[in-house]
Amino acid sequence: MKVLGIETSCDETGVAIFDTTAGLLGHCVHTQIALHAAYGGVVPELASRDHIRRLPLLVKQALDAAGCELSQLDAIAYTAGPGLAGALLVGASFAESLGLALAVPVLPIHHLEGHLLSPLLAADAPAFPFVALLVSGGHTQLMRVTGVGEYALLGESVDDAAGEAFDKTAKLLGLGYPGGPQLAALAERGQTGRFRLPRPMLRSGDLDFSFSGLKTAVLNVVSAPTWRAEDVADLATDFQAAVVEVLCAKALRALEQTGLVRLVVAGGVGANRHLRERLDASTRRKGWRVYYPEPELCTDNGAMIAFAGALRAAAGQRGGETPAVRVFPRWPLAELHSPVQP
Ligand code: ATP
Ligand code: MG
Ligand code: FE
Repeated sequence: MKVLGIETSCDETGVAIFDTTAGLLGHCVHTQIALHAAYGGVVPELASRDHIRRLPLLVKQALDAAGCELSQLDAIAYTAGPGLAGALLVGASFAESLGLALAVPVLPIHHLEGHLLSPLLAADAPAFPFVALLVSGGHTQLMRVTGVGEYALLGESVDDAAGEAFDKTAKLLGLGYPGGPQLAALAERGQTGRFRLPRPMLRSGDLDFSFSGLKTAVLNVVSAPTWRAEDVADLATDFQAAVVEVLCAKALRALEQTGLVRLVVAGGVGANRHLRERLDASTRRKGWRVYYPEPELCTDNGAMIAFAGALRAAAGQRGGETPAVRVFPRWPLAELHSPVQP
């Protein structure tokens, strides 16, 4: 079965074709970073318009890369939420119309389910059940995952997401847009332990997170009269260490509490090298294992949507009877159901 996946929830247009026997056949992503850079953040209306412009060409590119034609598609999956309403509507209307024309089922997919299942696309895929640490630009959550569509929330950020903290801190350090990856790169070159930054909610006793205070702590450092710009790499290193320490500690606590032995890390911050090293080292001692998506599939892409759609279609989920262009800008992951209702 060949599934076309379409992702347009924010500022990446992603299209991919996943085959249930041959695996990922083709995938293309167009990022709108350059389009929004001048504004220092995503401008929703510009995002929607650019998705409209890019989608038809990207679909053609993905089909060419996969060596298949529209008529060979068996299903279409698209991101129905959460995300920017206008951007989501572009993908939803494109997917529903194409599905109507081709007379194939169309499956609305939860963006975070896509992120969360993306490590299963790797050669060494984890088996269910596992704990998922979802660390993206908009979310920081720990979930207990027992199967496709079976997600229980264990804890989440009470304010900023980890990726958001990276981006906002990078901005106040003058690192450009979006600064998360740049901040991480700078942190590789710094010296640790020069700045005492808080470890928010490390000892809160629960599995929740808080990152907005950390950003403020960095602001206080750079606003002080003693601040020297040449220390920016050291500050980046200490900021990254603080985020990673809290993420690691809570992920480990989640494994302990649930008694599970596999941890899956997904979302853009999952690309962070220091986070991966710390998680690998601290779980190895306990005999636990950590699974990551391929680095290029950490941030938004169509492959994870095609894959989630393929898993759901293979489990028997059908598209709606009549095409309906509906999106869910806010949509808690724990509200999802398994592909086939009991
Ligand atoms: P959501 O999936 O919650 O809607 P999103 O789609 O914007 O949010 P992703 O695309 O999964 O988020 O990830 C983007 C985020 O990952 C950005 O905040 C970015 O700064 C962060 N990020 C990417 N690479 C790194 C890295 N190496 N270290 C730290 N953060 C990173
Ligand atoms: Mg993005
Ligand atoms: Fe995302």
